[in-house]
Amino acid sequence: MKCENEELCRSISEEKFARMEPHLAAAARRLERFRQAYENGEADLAFDEHASFREVWRAFSETHILEALMNGEIIECRKRDGEYGFLIWYNVKIGRGQYRPMHVPVVMPVANPNYLVVVTVYDPRSKEWQWTDNYTRRICRCN
Ligand SMILES: [Zn+2]
Repeated sequence: MKCENEELCRSISEEKFARMEPHLAAAARRLERFRQAYENGEADLAFDEHASFREVWRAFSETHILEALMNGEIIECRKRDGEYGFLIWYNVKIGRGQYRPMHVPVVMPVANPNYLVVVTVYDPRSKEWQWTDNYTRRICRCN
């Protein structure tokens, strides 16, 4: 598969990024506060029970997912229906000098910043035409 209209997708992506960019720093601070609370045993983490997650579960270990949550970087954020959504990007080490990109979409209730739900996890190379800059910037909005 590939992008069906690169010019249109790029311009939509640039517009969306411009609207999102001012909020990224606040999102990063929220995640950082969650991390500190989690380290102190004051925050909880859950995995979405959605069936599709069981499939990806096999592709990444729980250790890798935790590592991504604790060390990754937010590349997209939104606020909708009383919760924040963050897309976390991370390069996990899988061998000597070998890394695998990971994307971990999570949600955090606005009313409870000490609770994070992992929605799913995937390797962005599975849809590599959608990304640029080392899988940190979305350039395709098809589908
Ligand atoms: Zn596209």
